[in-house]
Amino acid sequence: MSNKSQQSNFFDETFSEEERKRLDRQLRLPGWNQKALKDSKVVIAGIGGLGTEIAKNLAMAGVGTLHLIDLDIIEYSNLNRQILFSDADEGEPKSKVSARALKKINPFSKYIWHHSNLEDVDPEVYATADLIISGLDSVTARAELNRRAVHFKKPMIDGGTATYYGHVYIYSPGENACLQCDPQIERERETLAACTLVGIPRKRSHCLLKGQLSFESKHNRTPDTTVLEEMNVVIDYANNLVKEHFPDKSIFTIDEAVKMVDQHDPTIITMNAVIASLQSQEAVKILHHVKGIKLGTVNKEYVIYNGLVGKFFYIEKPPNKKCALCGSAATIIEEVTIPETTTIDMLLSIIKNKGYSYDPEFEPSFWLIDKKDPEEVELNLTLKEQDIRNHETLFVTSLTKNGEEIDLYIRLILNG
Ligand SMILES: [Zn+2]
Repeated sequence: MSNKSQQSNFFDETFSEEERKRLDRQLRLPGWNQKALKDSKVVIAGIGGLGTEIAKNLAMAGVGTLHLIDLDIIEYSNLNRQILFSDADEGEPKSKVSARALKKINPFSKYIWHHSNLEDVDPEVYATADLIISGLDSVTARAELNRRAVHFKKPMIDGGTATYYGHVYIYSPGENACLQCDPQIERERETLAACTLVGIPRKRSHCLLKGQLSFESKHNRTPDTTVLEEMNVVIDYANNLVKEHFPDKSIFTIDEAVKMVDQHDPTIITMNAVIASLQSQEAVKILHHVKGIKLGTVNKEYVIYNGLVGKFFYIEKPPNKKCALCGSAATIIEEVTIPETTTIDMLLSIIKNKGYSYDPEFEPSFWLIDKKDPEEVELNLTLKEQDIRNHETLFVTSLTKNGEEIDLYIRLILNG
């Protein structure tokens, strides 16, 4: 068999005849390697407007394993753009329904669904993936996914749409900025974190956020933006604060409040399809590259698409040397291989051998951070007894190295 036919896998026996017939047209693409895609594992976090399109594209392209992560259930308002849910019922988990629909689209691939927060998904899923794709719509979830991409050194394709604008950005470990490299984002997050029910609002927008928080603390749920009485409760609270703290600024109108409380940006299938297709095309190349096969180059710039004028804009994103996650001053991540019958006490002595020490009066604490709510690890129970998983990351505080107090990440590789 010549090298040429090998590369395109026209006669590769890993594919059934039916599968080869189905893929015939793409096997003819110059530089294409179907086996590289078939052997790939891709994590798609967020199976919404973007995620469903990306999953559909990658399934049709013949990517072998797709991990589909989403905590949400299907709402009828998804159906204006989320093709995989068209025969599903309102209330069914998005991840499960999409796996079912994808199996019909391409039965030759594996679809593993996780009806879960991305934070609670087994860290092994990320550690063993070839590529991570974000179809997320929240800043905090993106930051969590970004940390996993940086720590596991995985390429990550981010995308997003807002009205008639969209963006695509690919993080390539060690080559360009991670998603947290932007100091501006950090500041905005801090401002939001500082805005709680107590404390004085520092911006007019905080007044509305406080109105929303007040409603949420009373009713244990977010206000329904389609119910006028509930929105009025939020607005009255917010506008009292505006009058008190920002007397020269305008009070909130109902339209403004609905847009701010309802986090869902209005969006349309065409914008999702453009952005998801760009993400999918970059994914196809990256999956070739991670298997050592040359196919085009990946765009490492931040791409903005303006759907109203039909133009693309490109912004270079060099890494921020001061980034707390990927910069030179970032918290170090140490990989430690140990048996799961080890206790944290034993882990401490391993860390000591790596040159870390601590003040005996302030013992370091170990936190499990691969979950929605970080948990402190018990010092004298074994890792197995605490259900600590392979590739789990621990965050350790109050250590000292070379006379300086530092924090540390430990990635655990369990060897039986
Ligand atoms: Zn960074």
